[in-house]
Order: sequence, then structure tokens, then C-alpha cells
Amino acid sequence: MFPLPPGSTIGILGGGQLGRMLAQAASRLGFDVAILDPEADCPAGRVAAHVITTAYDDPEGLAALARLSDVVSFEFENVPAAALERLAAAGAQTAPGPRALAVAQDRVDEKTFLNGAGVATVAFAAADGPESAIEAVGRIGAPALMKTRRDGYDGKGQRWVEHVAAAAAAFEALGGKPVIVEAPAAFVRELSVIAARGRDGGIAVYPLAENHHEGGVLRRTLAPAEVTPKIAAQAERIAAQILAGLDYVGVIGVELFELADGRLLVNEIAPRVHNTGHWTMDGCEVDQFEQHIRAVAGWPLGPTHALARVEMTNLLGEEALAWAKLAAEPEARLHLYGKRDAKPGRKMGHVNRLRPLR
Ligand code: AMP
Repeated sequence: MFPLPPGSTIGILGGGQLGRMLAQAASRLGFDVAILDPEADCPAGRVAAHVITTAYDDPEGLAALARLSDVVSFEFENVPAAALERLAAAGAQTAPGPRALAVAQDRVDEKTFLNGAGVATVAFAAADGPESAIEAVGRIGAPALMKTRRDGYDGKGQRWVEHVAAAAAAFEALGGKPVIVEAPAAFVRELSVIAARGRDGGIAVYPLAENHHEGGVLRRTLAPAEVTPKIAAQAERIAAQILAGLDYVGVIGVELFELADGRLLVNEIAPRVHNTGHWTMDGCEVDQFEQHIRAVAGWPLGPTHALARVEMTNLLGEEALAWAKLAAEPEARLHLYGKRDAKPGRKMGHVNRLRPLR
């Protein structure tokens, strides 16, 4: 069945901007795309051949997606486990597979997997009640960062615990749900690496990106990041260990902390295309979206070296209203997601500003 020939259909669970850019890349290679999203007017649906408007765990919607698609992929990791089981029962091939999603959905499972695969993280402890939260903070030491094990994104669902005495209150404030307690990472920079693994087990790794967040949300990415060859080699090794350890197919985003001594720790993995990889759309011959489509379709992976230095800036909320000014900037490549409603903080688009490689 693989490689899928042009004319095949790629199913995607989720119809946000990542699904939209995946659909655009897929269509360039001659594929049709089927999007499943609960919202009728979603960004990806408007550029796709087929749109299924149901909940993510709707049995009929998933059966329809399985019927239409030669392979099903995802634009987010918090896909209900029931949805994956239904897709599998309907005979759909999914890429990445259920294990990668399960690992990425739970911060404790994720760090346990990473350490088992020989990849370093901060020290951590799990807790599922106020008593064990106190014990976990005692073990890790305060200050510590407490995060919900599941469903966190963009810095939501986490808080600093300054003293052991504050552990139980922090646990309750996070909703009384199972948490992870993390040691602080004394990072000098936040980096990320986007990598892909094909169906033949081959791996392709993009240059590192340097990321700047504001209020937990990615603001800017600079890529390729200026790093020593040792750090670049370390990132490649980390990506390869993760991809092989998950028997992964597709693109993955790996968020990293760079420590003062030059060591890299993994913060988290995203089993999908990633906001810190948007620079590749204008900085590389084959961007992360096409790379993902190539991987899941069983095509050869494309080149990953940079053709330019890129500063990627997210356009949040009303910032996207400046589209005419941005479009007039000669070195700026504008990407808008077609979202109708510019709610404050919402990711509406991004702009890649190019400079020559030094
Ligand atoms: P996350 O939701 O895990 O991606 O965390 C969001 C942001 O919080 C990261 O980009 C870091 O800036 C910060 N952060 C997360 N974990 C830690 C940690 N263990 N130590 C210090 N800062 C952290």
C-alpha cells in the first residue's frame, strides 16, 4: 500500500492551522485531504477535499474518516484514546501510531519514556493527591513546577510551588487532578528540534531553532539557532533516540532546554508538526508540513538544511489585522490561517522574515 500514489486521501484529525498547512502541503503533492473537526467552519476544512463535522470520538465520523482515508494523521496530541481504537477497528492506518500519542499525552509517561530511551530531562515526581503532592515537592525540592499530567498546553495547567507548605494548595488549584512535579531547569535558552522518521526508518533532522515565549505562548523563533557543533550533534542524537524508541512515522517537535554547561534536556515532545517549525516553510526546500505528508505516505524524506535565516513571529489576535503592512515588507513571508474571529491571544497567522545565511 505504501508509498501512497498521488490521488490517495490523507485523513487528518483536527482542522486548525496545523491541519490547514498539512492539507496545503498534501495538495501540492497531488493528495486529497479529509479533515475531521467538531467545528464546521474550521481553517483546514476550507482547503480540504472532504470535511467531516463531528466530535473527535464520534463513531460515525471516525468510521467515515477511516473509509475515506488511505492513512490517518493528527494535528494535535490530545486525541481521545477511544478515537484511536475506533480508527484501528475501522481498519485505518494511523501515523504516528497510538503509542506515540499515549506517551505525549501524559507528562509522567513522557518523561519516563524519555529517560528510558537514554534522553535526559529534569528530575520529576508524580502525585495524585494532596498528600503525595507534598511528598513529591519534598522529594524534588522547592521551588518546583507543578503541572497537570494531561491536557496542558501553552503554559496552561501549571504553577510554581515556592515551599513544600504550598504543595497541597497548588495541587487543589490545578483542579485536584494527577500532576507531575518538576525540578526547575536552569536554562540559558529554549531550543527545539523538528525531525522526521520515514516508513523505512530513515531519519531527517532540521537545524535547531531558538524560541522565545511570552505568557506561555510562543512569540518568536530564530532559526537556524546559533549553536556549537556539539549541541547540534546532541540534538540530532536526542531526536534519533526518541524517533526510534517510539517506532515513529511522521514529523515530531522536541522542545529543549539548553543548560549553561552545554547539556540539553528535553522539556516535552509534540507528536506532530510544531509551531517552532513554521520557519521551515520559507527557510527550507521541504518544510515540516510536506515532510510529514511524505513520511506518512511512505515517500522519501526531503532535505532539511536551511536556505536562509528565518525569524518567525506569531501573529496573535488583532496583530493579524496588519496584514497589508506585513505583505508590503519585501523580506517578510506572510501566512494567515483564515480564522474568522481575532480573539485576543489566538494564533491567527505568522510571518517569516528572511535574511541570508551567514
Ligand atoms: P510546557 O507546558 O511544559 O511546555 O512549559 C511551558 C514553559 O514553561 C516552557 O516553555 C518553559 O519556559 C517553562 N518551563 C516548563 N518546565 C520547566 C521547568 N521544569 N523548569 C523551568 N521552566 C520550565
